[in-house]
Amino acid sequence: MGPAAEFNPDKQTDLEWTRLGRCYLLADRLMSTTFQDAIVDAFIQKIIDKGCSPTLVHETIYSGTARQSGMRRLLVDIAIFEWDKDILATRAARPACADFFKDLAVRYQEILEKGGEQEGAPYRQLQTTCQYHDHGQDEECCRMMFEYI
Ligand SMILES: [Zn+2]
Repeated sequence: MGPAAEFNPDKQTDLEWTRLGRCYLLADRLMSTTFQDAIVDAFIQKIIDKGCSPTLVHETIYSGTARQSGMRRLLVDIAIFEWDKDILATRAARPACADFFKDLAVRYQEILEKGGEQEGAPYRQLQTTCQYHDHGQDEECCRMMFEYI
């Protein structure tokens, strides 16, 4: 049986997010950071192009990725910069989501400690999207290998 997102009656559920999330888990299993980073970029591009954001896929990603996963960082920032309080208030607080909500609280605190000022979502600026990639600092970005953006 698939993750809850497939069966959630939430009308805003877009199954493409779930599919992309599953691709990310596959890339993680294949240990392909290039594939993982390309999926992160696909998430970002979809948010920018379609004006929508994933509201459930964190359940899939947090159940199958390591703590330092770039996709985790991206999903936390998406929740901060894209979700309104109604979305946040209605997300399931399952035990499996505890790490997500903890990361969300820590990120909020980071922003507050910077004076609450943030120049928009970092993932909307092309030069800062590598902070959500899993490649190392001394490794080439997938955007340099393929021209898909
Ligand atoms: Zn990169």
